[in-house]
Amino acid sequence: MACDQIELAVSGVQQLSPYQAGKPIEELERELGITNSIKLASNENPLGPSAKALAAAREALSEVTLYPDASGHRLKSVLSAKYGLSNDQLTLGNGSNDLLELIARVFVRPGDQVIFSEYAFIVYPLVTQACCAQAVITPAINYGHDLDAMAAAINEKTRLIYLANPNNPTGTVFTKSELLAFMAKVPESVIVVLDEAYTEYLTAENMPDGLELVPKFSNLIVTRTFSKAWGLAGLRLGFAYASTQLTDLLNRVRQPFNVNIAALAAAEAVLDDAEYLAKSRQVNSDGLIQLAAGLSKLGIEFIPSQGNFITIDLKQPSMPVYEALLREGVIVRPVGIYKLPNHLRVSVGLESENDRFLTALEKVLG
Ligand SMILES: *Cc1c(COP(=O)(O)O)cnc(C)c1O
Repeated sequence: MACDQIELAVSGVQQLSPYQAGKPIEELERELGITNSIKLASNENPLGPSAKALAAAREALSEVTLYPDASGHRLKSVLSAKYGLSNDQLTLGNGSNDLLELIARVFVRPGDQVIFSEYAFIVYPLVTQACCAQAVITPAINYGHDLDAMAAAINEKTRLIYLANPNNPTGTVFTKSELLAFMAKVPESVIVVLDEAYTEYLTAENMPDGLELVPKFSNLIVTRTFSKAWGLAGLRLGFAYASTQLTDLLNRVRQPFNVNIAALAAAEAVLDDAEYLAKSRQVNSDGLIQLAAGLSKLGIEFIPSQGNFITIDLKQPSMPVYEALLREGVIVRPVGIYKLPNHLRVSVGLESENDRFLTALEKVLG
């Protein structure tokens, strides 16, 4: 009898379904026989890359015969200078997803528990499952994390807690004092991962700054990314900030050359491009206002967002609307995988793109 190779996989992987990324624009256009579509599906920066970052990445390419600096020393120094950090508390990742997974691999044993919120970023259940651990999912409040419930869910099996501020796909946030009250209830033996992928977009008052809190909490790991406001999603780069001890553990398991030379060079350059970041933030806050106004005019409910996306509640199954929008050349993201079958997530685009989405939505629902 043929060997069922599924059974060869560790139990967590046997039960795992692969991450469903949005289809590339070219593939969708070919399938639908359309052109000129816009993609507001993956929370990518609508500005295109920073010219400085692009020039640095191009220049770095002349060195592709060489391995990258395994420690990313230069980039770490630039990060440390910019944010007041310490190089030996930084870990670089091939995207912050790489780090979210690395953290689980370092700390989570089969049978351990990992806590995260209902509607939290999909990578948390994915890595939990891959470690053959048990996901403890606390019900959301107004789509956001219920930090009290998360603290109450801690027991002797808890290893790790994932928090996202803002969260994707809901755009919800918690305040600094809420986070501090939560951290006070978490034993030092439980690692808290604070995923700040969208932190540069925050405009709300009293938001926590994870980097500033790391020195106060030996069990806190903060992750950040260059994929969103910094506009480098395709190069794959993120970083984690934590105590030297936790950082040492992460770096034991990290692949030595997990970050490529183009990413290292581009990140260094973009950190020096204050204008690009300012523009990213401006286009995003203007876009959120534009989308909120347009949606309100159409009578469509949405979750107030602090990210670079907005999730709308259609009060009806969203897949047919998603498909109708596709035929209009507007690609957004269904969030059924998050158990939000009536919602769609729309990334903030340029003004003209947001307009096009709103016009298409009105037509499709009309
Ligand atoms: C986009 C996103 C990330 C970033 O992923 P990268 O691997 O750095 O591209 C991390 N966390 C959340 C919640 C996100 O939405």
